[in-house]
Amino acid sequence: MHYFEYKGDELHCEEISIAEIAAKVGTPFYLYSHRTLTQHYRVFDEAFSPIPHLICFAVKANSNLAILKLFAEMGGGADVVSGGELYRSLKAGIPPERIVFAGVGKTREEIAYALKSDILMFNVESSQELQLLEEVAASIGTNAKVALRVNPDVDPSTHPYISTGLKKSKFGIDISLALEEYQVAQNLPHIDIVGIHQHIGSQITEVSPFVDALEKIADLVESLRELDLDIRYLDVGGGLGITYKDEEPPPPKEFAEALIGVIKDLGCTVILEPGRVIAGNAGILVTRVLYTKRTPAKNFVVVDAGMNDLIRPSLYGSYHSILPVKKLPSAPGLVADVVGPICESGDFLAKDREIPEPEMGDLLAVMSAGAYGFTMSSNYNSRPRASEVMVKGGKFYIIRERESYEDLIKGEHVPDFL
Ligand SMILES: *Cc1c(COP(=O)(O)O)cnc(C)c1O
Repeated sequence: MHYFEYKGDELHCEEISIAEIAAKVGTPFYLYSHRTLTQHYRVFDEAFSPIPHLICFAVKANSNLAILKLFAEMGGGADVVSGGELYRSLKAGIPPERIVFAGVGKTREEIAYALKSDILMFNVESSQELQLLEEVAASIGTNAKVALRVNPDVDPSTHPYISTGLKKSKFGIDISLALEEYQVAQNLPHIDIVGIHQHIGSQITEVSPFVDALEKIADLVESLRELDLDIRYLDVGGGLGITYKDEEPPPPKEFAEALIGVIKDLGCTVILEPGRVIAGNAGILVTRVLYTKRTPAKNFVVVDAGMNDLIRPSLYGSYHSILPVKKLPSAPGLVADVVGPICESGDFLAKDREIPEPEMGDLLAVMSAGAYGFTMSSNYNSRPRASEVMVKGGKFYIIRERESYEDLIKGEHVPDFL
């Protein structure tokens, strides 16, 4: 579900023509629909209304301040994985008591920053991290609220790079060792155990891996309670998939019902960390055709967005649907690779894709780019990062300016001897 639709031959975002926005802001740019973001958030929130819950949006999926602020206004929190994401979340006005902090490599400085900010809880991923957390909390004279991230060893049947709950994964504490680690935590004077956390992967299109994992976690929660541990928060992570092409992930309501079935009797406040399912189909990348090129072996459409702007196709072999911003009803079909300007053969947005043959200067919409799009972008090939635009109704707002050449060299210094 999203509000990117053709009106006549022109692709629109809500009430505004995308070509009109492109004419004003230039290309490439990320475009988000406020109505879609709001609707996705609301549907997810309502699906969990039968139980006490908190939605902590996964900031790494889309960390723009305007987008974080939108969720904050709707009552949401943040799932952060770095000091930088914590900074953004606080800047966007997300109350610290709605922020959870995961990640296998939290530094001493990040831990101190989060303790001083008094966040809801740390999702601790190793024994050494737990010890460091104790030490830093003691030195600041505070207590750290923690959940242990437990690795339930389930296969989410998704891309290996985004599977995080298998036994061999770097994430979390193996479920067979969790009870022991909780007992260690229980004896640390500056650690307050408040919950348990899992996150098994991303772009998961079935309910069963979530249910399997939660059944294991629910058993563990009962054992922990026998040890007098006050497990108030059950953080089930994120990972619900979306439709990029022909995937049929369960709708949020079905997902919620399955989860609630497993956990309702535990009496915990459930924390959810959705990223992709909220933002993915609420954003697109708009790019302009620079050239079309025929070689004896292949056809190429060269566009002004590359792997530095959207790396998912190169990194994971991901599929993103590509639509012409202006429909050309009579255009003959073409099978082509849609490629960017970067000097790498891995720089493509689509491979062997059948599309209406575009002309130089035409605009294309790379769909489903609202999550892990801009946040994974880089300056490779010294390309300024794209701008980000939000549409609300018939108006658009630049929520991040396109970078300039000056931005590219910000902070660089040439030593005197040169
Ligand atoms: C990436 C991540 C998420 C979000 O995953 P989605 O697939 O975007 O929902 C949630 N929690 C943690 C700990 C993550 O690392």
